[in-house]
Amino acid sequence: MASSSKDNKDFVSNIDTNPSNIEPQKLTLDSRFRFRCHPGVSCFTACCGNINIILTPYDILRIRRFLEISAEEFLLRFTTPVYLEKTDLPGVKINLDENGRCPFVTEEGCTIYPYRPTTCRYYPIGMANFHEAGGEEKETRAEQFYFKVKEPHCKGHEEDKEWTIREWRVDQGIDESDEMNREWMELVMRRKSFGFQAQISEPAKKMFFMASTDLDKFREFVRSPGFLDTYDMEEDEIERVCADDISLLKFSYRYLASTLFGTEGIKVRAEKIKAKVAEMKKKQEEMEKRAEETHRQLKAEYEAMKKAEAERMKER
Ligand code: SF4
Ligand code: SF4
Repeated sequence: MASSSKDNKDFVSNIDTNPSNIEPQKLTLDSRFRFRCHPGVSCFTACCGNINIILTPYDILRIRRFLEISAEEFLLRFTTPVYLEKTDLPGVKINLDENGRCPFVTEEGCTIYPYRPTTCRYYPIGMANFHEAGGEEKETRAEQFYFKVKEPHCKGHEEDKEWTIREWRVDQGIDESDEMNREWMELVMRRKSFGFQAQISEPAKKMFFMASTDLDKFREFVRSPGFLDTYDMEEDEIERVCADDISLLKFSYRYLASTLFGTEGIKVRAEKIKAKVAEMKKKQEEMEKRAEETHRQLKAEYEAMKKAEAERMKER
């Protein structure tokens, strides 16, 4: 495909696809479909406008490295903050230009084609992750399947080339993208499955945003003295993680899983936990002392009132 876009059903997706354009058939990796996108199609680049492309951490890293700009510059110039589908987790989507077109599309096609976002690689295939929570008698069920998006303007479906979904994934580099995004996707899905009742603190949301969108800032954070003081990691381990973007990206997923969901990936130093417990205990003791003092004062005031009342009664 010279350019692409659209629907990858779960949170990577984000294209407001009209449901009537989704073929109502569950597809597997071995399902076959006909499709070819090339500069000769009459609709060439028609799909690169009026779209909603959420970027994964790996998408951001890959594109901004190709553009040779910092994560911060990339975010400011090309993205807008959004909430990831059906969660309160913050992420970013690509800004469209004044004509509603992707900033990376030209008449010749996608200018970042080898580094295009995961969502663009999937199109016209979508992937759905279906989770059914287990009740007392039911087991929790997870199912993944594919589906085809067939929009009227897209002429690629009229071409002769036939693929299995497995072949399409390899051809479009989807396997690699999904592998790089996998643990992050799992975090988002996990958050989604909790629903809005379970609250995430504002600092945790900010951390999620920073780690998911700006690896430069996350690297600074990991190298800061406060991080070393708090987490049970040696300096050389931190340097190994920070030395290369991909290992830092993978570490950011582990870090977020551990801070958001308490997984055992990264341990807080024992002395920090001890200090935190001691601090909480001290706070509790102070509150108990204050409560006792208040109680003592109230009691004294009550006794004084009772005494004054008794005096008044005697004088009558
Ligand atoms: S990133 Fe490329 S393929 Fe995706 S919408 Fe933009 S121009 Fe099209
Ligand atoms: S064939 Fe489909 S994917 Fe290719 S440019 Fe046309 S609308 Fe986009």
